[in-house]
Amino acid sequence: MEHSPIWTENATTFNFPSLREDTRTEVVVIGAGITGVTAAYLLAKKGVNVILLDKDMIARSTTGHTTAKLTVQHGLVYDELINHFGIENTHLYVKSQYDAMEEVKKIIKKESIDCSYEVQDAILYTNEEDNVKKLEKELEAYHKIGIDVTSIHELPFNKIPILSGISLPEQAQFHPLLYVHALITALQKMNVPIYEHTLAVDIKNEPQLTVKTKKYDIKCDHVVVATHFPIYDPMKMFSTKMYPSRSYVTAFTSDEDYPSGMYLSIDKSKHSLRSFSETDKKVWIFGGESHDTGKYKDTLNPFEKLTAFAEETLPVKEWQYKWSAQDYTTLDKIPYIGKVKEKEEIYVATGYRKWGMTNSTVAAKLITDLIIDNHSPYKDLFKPTRFNGDPGVKEFMKNTGKVTKDFVTGKIRTGDETLSELKPGEATKIRDDINIVCVYKDENEKLHAVDTTCTHLGCEVNWNNAEKSWDCPCHGSRFNKDGDVLEGPAIEPLKKMDI
Ligand SMILES: Cc1cc2nc3c(=O)[nH]c(=O)nc-3n(C[C@H](O)[C@H](O)[C@H](O)COP(=O)(O)OP(=O)(O)OC[C@H]3O[C@@H](n4cnc5c(N)ncnc54)[C@H](O)[C@@H]3O)c2cc1C
Repeated sequence: MEHSPIWTENATTFNFPSLREDTRTEVVVIGAGITGVTAAYLLAKKGVNVILLDKDMIARSTTGHTTAKLTVQHGLVYDELINHFGIENTHLYVKSQYDAMEEVKKIIKKESIDCSYEVQDAILYTNEEDNVKKLEKELEAYHKIGIDVTSIHELPFNKIPILSGISLPEQAQFHPLLYVHALITALQKMNVPIYEHTLAVDIKNEPQLTVKTKKYDIKCDHVVVATHFPIYDPMKMFSTKMYPSRSYVTAFTSDEDYPSGMYLSIDKSKHSLRSFSETDKKVWIFGGESHDTGKYKDTLNPFEKLTAFAEETLPVKEWQYKWSAQDYTTLDKIPYIGKVKEKEEIYVATGYRKWGMTNSTVAAKLITDLIIDNHSPYKDLFKPTRFNGDPGVKEFMKNTGKVTKDFVTGKIRTGDETLSELKPGEATKIRDDINIVCVYKDENEKLHAVDTTCTHLGCEVNWNNAEKSWDCPCHGSRFNKDGDVLEGPAIEPLKKMDI
């Protein structure tokens, strides 16, 4: 089974240059995932001069590792949102998501994008007694906000029994990279400068707004920070108000036809299912086993658990792909989209809680509207600086407590295995005279040693055995065996150590 997402197979490689000179523009969009690319597209369509840049390649990070369900059914959430924000705000959230779905449809039509867009029902289900009541409340919540969902009592998979389920019609699924790459082609036609392999290292506000990349500066009037975890966090707001969670995805062929529908369980082992078909390819995409990033004793387990469950319950013929990725959840489950500080022209979009296919377009539209008119009906709902009493305070205490604990306990932990006992492909932590050192032994028995301290805010990284990476449990930075950054917010590599 290939360890890569299905979406990157045969994906376009654009080979855009890196930035090679100082320059200026109206808007710099940092990050070319679905958020940044959509924002650049909407702004350019309005005649704004935009530069789009990414530290790697176009949409190869979270957007290249999604399951790409385009739906307003965002797990078990609307009963909770009604309780915390009231019906009016919950309705506004749902409206923003339906607007985004419409916008995606409009763009697909306008740009004639062939991205395997298919209308599907979205089904939420449980087979646990304790969750039946929660699902009933969720059904009521949908009705309160005027959404027509139906109650169901079985799934079209004989070996997945359920106690209860709800089905939301007229949702969709697509191929995320074909969609994003078509937007890039549209940007090229509008002569928008695009730079790959261009790392933004800082944003300076004085004397003029400037995006600083490793070598060159871009002066501008506005910046859109679409880097997943925002690289601009002057008040350390996002570091304490969001947490990362990883999920695992597999894809397999089957002799049976997929019965249609996008499925999500709300039980302890949450599972997600959809299909993907092209002329010569038909696969079932099956995911789940989420956990907080950097917090898994043996990260081989999620894939093993997923494949074992699928082989027991689904008509698996041949395993084809496996991949994993992470997304951030905010304290109150609503993304942070908008200005970081009222007086600065710097916008962020983050915290989609694994519902970024709609929320990225919500963000792109909202930020475009704020840059052009300083007005959007969704401005206050998504405002990053909001702080709601409940559940904000409770979750804030839990999250800062969690971050502090990771910061402190990591420092006193030691590995008790000796290096000679370490098997190829394994990693451990050892204590030398002063430091705790992360050590990985590769298949050729070469040792790779790095400092355990995350270069973002100093938490302690932990080994992720499934992906052979050192992951930070606090804010989700990930590093390879030699300490190079795989995923931000960290910009600098882990310090290499001699052992
Ligand atoms: C396993 C999984 C399944 C999911 N399934 C679904 C689903 O079915 N439906 C749904 O709605 N959502 C889903 N999501 C959520 C969705 O995929 C994400 O929310 C979305 O892709 C985030 O897009 P983004 O553009 O904000 O971030 P990204 O795609 O991560 O893009 C950020 C970009 O910024 C670049 N960058 C970072 N730092 C810098 C820097 N300093 N300088 C320059 N560039 C930088 C990165 O290289 C990257 O290309 C899923 C998420 C996961 C993890």
